[in-house]
Amino acid sequence: MTDADEFAEQIRAGDVRLHELEDHADHDTATAARRILLESETDATLDAVGDYAFDAERAENNVENMVGGAQIPMGVAGPVNVSGGSAEGDYYLPLATTEGALVASVNRGCSVITSAGGADARVTKTGMTRAPVFRVQGVAEAEEVVNWVADNRDRLADAAESTTSHGELLDVTPYVVGASVFLRFVYDTKDAMGMNMATIATREAASLVEEETPASLVALSGNLCTDKKPAAINAVEGRGRSVTADIRISRETVEERLHTTPKAIEEANIRKNLVGSAKAGSLGFNAHAANVVAAAFLATGQDAAQVVEGSNAITTVEARENELYASVSLASLEVGTVGGGTKLPTQSEALDVLGLRGGGDPAGSNADALAEIIAVGALAGELSLLAALASRHLSSAHEELGR
Ligand code: NAP
Repeated sequence: MTDADEFAEQIRAGDVRLHELEDHADHDTATAARRILLESETDATLDAVGDYAFDAERAENNVENMVGGAQIPMGVAGPVNVSGGSAEGDYYLPLATTEGALVASVNRGCSVITSAGGADARVTKTGMTRAPVFRVQGVAEAEEVVNWVADNRDRLADAAESTTSHGELLDVTPYVVGASVFLRFVYDTKDAMGMNMATIATREAASLVEEETPASLVALSGNLCTDKKPAAINAVEGRGRSVTADIRISRETVEERLHTTPKAIEEANIRKNLVGSAKAGSLGFNAHAANVVAAAFLATGQDAAQVVEGSNAITTVEARENELYASVSLASLEVGTVGGGTKLPTQSEALDVLGLRGGGDPAGSNADALAEIIAVGALAGELSLLAALASRHLSSAHEELGR
């Protein structure tokens, strides 16, 4: 009987609780004991789940009740040429996905972008947000809180920034709804996606608000942030990085490489991405930006649930004289190259492929570059899919690659 078998037995007997195993055993043994227990209580065999490549102890801040690892195939698209505010040069974009045809489609878009001279990309706004909600007696008190916040921005910044050496408070916007006051704090979190950093900083600032005003904190996140829910505020105000990538492609290249015309791609974009999305009441006016965002997030250790905000993207296409102009603007792309899942081994290797592991010089430049490259990847995906639709190749590509 192995140690893991014995621990599994102790859990069954109620002597040790499932989540307390790491207090009694090393992390790999604890993980194995949970697998043994699961296997005995279900019909599953967890050999593949147990065949993980990371240090279980180092993953303890990433997952609880660990039983192993979930593996996702990783492919690469590119090289794609990017001329950005921070990204500069040719990049291979790692994409983790189970959707056949996705990497091939993005790869085709990357190849067209590079042969057209490369895409421009810029982060136009940065700001990770946390919006606590406070209770007041009514609108008179709400006004008092709003005025105090306007008069005490420096004190709020001092309180918030006392918790971090990288984060900077950029803005605090109040919203009043009856007897609820929301304060939307916006931070520059540099190379961190920043959700933990912003939450910890906001807790400190919220204490000051409670000390100095009649406001009483109800929840540190009042959902006006807005994290991991579809929300117009992110589409309009931005969250994380607001980033745009664009490209001009000669008519010749469009015809030769994408087998269609600028006019046909423009029409597909207008009728599908703009009119269709408007009719559907969609927040994302794009073809499949979430595909690239999700695959790049999984590959590079981003918070997967934030694909919700990452799909807040508008694609524009113009058939200009003898060329096609195309752009993708992602309003709320929340990315980091430090913290969270970025430290795990396959995820940091993927960041190495991009040359973006860890903090940038200056701080924030690595996360900016990652946002720019993902935006160019999304542009590649949009171009490829729109062109496939315009030339009616979509179903045959899926039949060949996805089945
Ligand atoms: P984090 O790992 O909590 O914080 C980033 C850390 O990196 C900070 O300690 C920061 O130090 C340090 N750092 C070193 N070099 C840096 C650089 N160049 N730029 C910025 N920071 C640098 O990561 P986070 O991005 O704030 O949070 C990500 C995690 O939050 C993910 O795991 C995500 O799943 C989770 N999350 C949390 C919530 C929540 O409400 N708490 C919600 C959604 C997601 P200093 O701060 O000392 O400067």
